[in-house]
Amino acid sequence: MIKLSSFLTTFNEPETLRMAKLARELRAQGKDVIDLSLGEPDFNTPEHIKNAGIKAINDDWSHYTPVSGYLDLREAVCNKLKIDNQLEYQPENIVVSTGAKQSLANVILSLVDQGDEVIIPTPYWVTYSELVKIARGVVVEVPSSVESNYKITSQQLEQAISSKTKVFLFSSPCNPSGAVYSEQELRAFAEVFKKYPDIYILSDEIYEYINYIGNHFSLAQIPELKDRVIVINGLSKGFAMTGWRLGYIAAPKEIAQACDKIQGQFTSATCSIAQKAAVVALNGSKEQSYEMTKAFKERLHITLDWLKKLPNLKCTVPDGAFYVFPDVSYYFGKTIKGFAIHDSADFSMFILHHAHVSSVMGAAFGAPNCVRFSYANSIENINRAWIRIIDCLNSN
Ligand code: PLP
Repeated sequence: MIKLSSFLTTFNEPETLRMAKLARELRAQGKDVIDLSLGEPDFNTPEHIKNAGIKAINDDWSHYTPVSGYLDLREAVCNKLKIDNQLEYQPENIVVSTGAKQSLANVILSLVDQGDEVIIPTPYWVTYSELVKIARGVVVEVPSSVESNYKITSQQLEQAISSKTKVFLFSSPCNPSGAVYSEQELRAFAEVFKKYPDIYILSDEIYEYINYIGNHFSLAQIPELKDRVIVINGLSKGFAMTGWRLGYIAAPKEIAQACDKIQGQFTSATCSIAQKAAVVALNGSKEQSYEMTKAFKERLHITLDWLKKLPNLKCTVPDGAFYVFPDVSYYFGKTIKGFAIHDSADFSMFILHHAHVSSVMGAAFGAPNCVRFSYANSIENINRAWIRIIDCLNSN
C-alpha cells in the first residue's frame, strides 16, 4: 500500500464534487439522475467570448504569461471594478488565478499562520473551511439559520472576534444560502471592523451579477476599510465560464505580491487563452450575463412554488446565486420507503437513491440541518426533479 502524506488527512474533499461523482456513477448504471448538486450555470459561454478564445489561439497567445496575468487583463479588471463597484485599483493590486478557488487559496496561505483564527459565518462555501485547515488556521463559525435569513448580525460578528482573529471570510451573494447582505448590514460590520484594525476581510463576490435585488455593495467601498479588504471575484458564474478557470483578487499591493509569490510556485499564471477571452468578457457587453440572471430568477420562482408544496421544508427566499437551501430537519428520525433519515447526509442520499435527484448535504456548508438544491438547470429538469422529490417525501 502506498504511504500517502499525513497532510491529506487534515482536510476533506469537496462534498459538491463527491455528490456529482455519485450522480455520475448512478447514471452510468442507467439511472435517469437529475443533477441539482453542482454549482455552475447550465448556459454555455457567450459567443463573443468563445470567439475571443479562438482568436487568441490563432494569434498564438500560447506562451507563459506574467504570473499575475497579462497587463491588459489586469487593466480590464481595474476598469470593471471602477465601473461596477466605484473602486479604484491599479494593475499592481490585481492577481489573476486559475479560478476564484485558487485566488482564495493564495490569499489564505498569504495571511493565515498556524493557530490564526478565521471567522466564517455559516452556511459557507465548502472550500472555505478546508483551505483554512490547509493553512493550519482555526475556523471560527458564526451560526445563522433559516430564521435569521441566513445572515449574521454585527453583534454576533463582534462576539466571535478574539486576539487571534486574523481574517473574516464571507460571500455575498452567498453560496449556499443565496443571502445577500445589504449596504446597511455591511456598514454595521464595518463599524465593528473599525475597532479591530488587525483583521483582514476576504469578500467573495463571485455571484455579484446573480443578484435579484440589485445594488451590489462591497466592503471595499468603505474607504477606512479598503486597505484591509481583499475582493475575490471571477468569471465562472457571471459569464458562464467555469471551465475556463479564471478568478482574480483586488488587494493591497503587499497581499497581491504575496499571492503572486505563492502562485508562482504552484501553477504560474492561468491559461493564456482564457486570459485573452476574459479581457473581451470584462470589457464587452454584459447583456448576456443579465439575461442569464433573468433566467435564474424565473427558475428560482418555479423552485419556490414547488417548495410551497413541502411545508415541512423550511426555506428562505434567496436574493442571489442559484441555490435554495431548505432546513430539512423535520425529516430527521423518520423512515420513508424503508430508508431511515438521521441527518442531512441521509436526506440527500435518500433523495438521490429514491428520486434520482442529486443535492448536497448541509453539513458540508457548516449547516447540518439543511440541504442545497441548485436551480441552475433547465425548467424541464427542475420540474421533473421536484415532482420526484415531492412524490418520494410524501410516500410512506
Ligand atoms: N466562491 C464561491 C462562493 C463559489 O461558490 C465558487 C464556486 O463554486 C468559487 C468561489 C470558486 O469559483 P471558481 O470556479 O472561479 O474557482
